[in-house]
Amino acid sequence: MHSASTAPGAAAPAVLTMTAAFEGIEGSYSHAVLDAYGERRGVRFTPLGLPSYRAVAHAVLSGRADVGLLPIDNAIAGTIREGYDVLGEYELDLLAEITWRMEHRLLGVAEATVAGLREIDSHPVVLAECGRFLATLSEVRRVPVPDTGVAARDVAAARDPRRGAIASADAGRRYGLIELAANIADHPDNFTRFILFRAPNAARPAADFEPARDFADRKTSIVFAVPHEPGALGRCLSIFGRFGLNVSKLDSKSRLGAAQQYTFLADVDGDVREERFAETLRALRDETLALHVLGSYDASTAPARVPVTTTVAIDERPPAVPAAATTPFPKAQRKGETTGARVQVGDVAVGDGAFVVIAGPCSVESRDQILATADAVGRAGAVMLRGGAFKPRTSPYAFQGLGWDGVALLAEAGRAAGLPVVSEVMSIDQVERMAASIDVLQIGARNMQNFDLLRAVGRADRPVLLKRGMAASIDELLAAAEYVLAEGNPNVILCERGIRTFETATRNTLDLSAIPVLRERTHLPVIVDPSHGVGVRRWIAPLCRAAKAVGAHGLLLEVHPNPSEAKCDADQALTFGDFRRVMEDLSAIPLRG
Ligand code: PEP
Ligand code: MN
Repeated sequence: MHSASTAPGAAAPAVLTMTAAFEGIEGSYSHAVLDAYGERRGVRFTPLGLPSYRAVAHAVLSGRADVGLLPIDNAIAGTIREGYDVLGEYELDLLAEITWRMEHRLLGVAEATVAGLREIDSHPVVLAECGRFLATLSEVRRVPVPDTGVAARDVAAARDPRRGAIASADAGRRYGLIELAANIADHPDNFTRFILFRAPNAARPAADFEPARDFADRKTSIVFAVPHEPGALGRCLSIFGRFGLNVSKLDSKSRLGAAQQYTFLADVDGDVREERFAETLRALRDETLALHVLGSYDASTAPARVPVTTTVAIDERPPAVPAAATTPFPKAQRKGETTGARVQVGDVAVGDGAFVVIAGPCSVESRDQILATADAVGRAGAVMLRGGAFKPRTSPYAFQGLGWDGVALLAEAGRAAGLPVVSEVMSIDQVERMAASIDVLQIGARNMQNFDLLRAVGRADRPVLLKRGMAASIDELLAAAEYVLAEGNPNVILCERGIRTFETATRNTLDLSAIPVLRERTHLPVIVDPSHGVGVRRWIAPLCRAAKAVGAHGLLLEVHPNPSEAKCDADQALTFGDFRRVMEDLSAIPLRG
């Protein structure tokens, strides 16, 4: 049966030819596995497709085939019981385990489309493996057929664009079908294990199939039955452990014809010819009702992967330590120990060597309100006046700010009190007009990643007060600052204003740990807004002290002449008296460098 042939007139190595039986027809997965395995082992298999697993065993035992191949296990569908059953029922010499990645394709005739299919044929296990994909095709009937080769052959023969088959790419080529979809299994690691075997005492076909001498990469399959009592299986398993044998598969089934007994299939690393295996089997005999060794076989084949062709050059060298210029924020990044933070706003320097307090109402509400607040905060020691004219409100029905009237009132109040003014800019079209009368353009938390707006303020010639987004990481805050810096505006003041966490007792969670981190990582000044951070008036003072103690360059605080009447953020507005007390408290906290 097996014979050696040599390519004519050349010194090419002899190719061994053998007949290989498998279940299915040409184009089935078993056939593809035989082709690939044969190529690797220098054997050419003549395929002999048969209608059942048992017919495969018979062909081998009768000498019609040199070897047989049966699947025993699929990563998605599980144990293929019939495979193990046949290996157990017949006396066979197991040669090798072949692990094969199943790459299912949806195939059809040339005119077929996925949308036009009404029926898909395949092996029932393969249909199960593609369950998720098939569930997306609501009008398609699934038709189980004996094998994927049959599915492909019959769909090709029918020439019906409403019929598809799930099979291998090889089956598609063999039967002239086109590929309608690939990667359709529920999981890409869809491996099937096959066992290659021959008749016992068969004439030696090839040295390659001989058991290795050192027993490395050998596996043994056994079947054993235990009584139905507590600890019976555990005692068996502990025997494997005691002799240093690793069990890589264990599956159970009721023992047919024997009530209250269970049979277990076990695949164990190692070879029956090893002394430790002999001892294991001796010990197992005392604990089991039946014990049958299916055989030991070569398990050295790594999962057979369909070769992936790629044009990507692979470089295994460790990446070089990133240079400063390759960080996501080269301009925001601190250059060295000595770079001091400094942003100049009129006469006010924000940064190292000073602790600045910016105060004012959440929103400009009236001329009186903003003039009175400017006067009060200026007298208490604030160096800038804040006030929103365009307000980013959660509800579209809430007070939205006075708009350009508010901008004009804020500018007037700032001039009257001798304080530069800060106000939020919400859109690109506001930037230029705001910059004409407002000293510092605030980017609110909700706009921290409005990249076009960041670019627009980056082109303005006003400093920017950039508030941290409520779900933004420190890196994202620095990357947002980088947008402004990258446009050429070097004057960015960062502001920690609380982030959203699971905590609901405070409006946000004021992340004071961001301050030392930012001080280390950037040269930009960092201020803290405890008003939005906690949202509750009486908790603001302690956090002002903490912010100064932890190294912030200043504070942004909401102050209102009559907090209970504030049109927005009333709960967090400090009274003028509160604000004076905060300023007094702060004078007792030393400035941190
Ligand atoms: C504000 O400063 O009034 C404001 C709206 O702040 P934030 O963007 O931090 O919520
Ligand atoms: Mn506010």
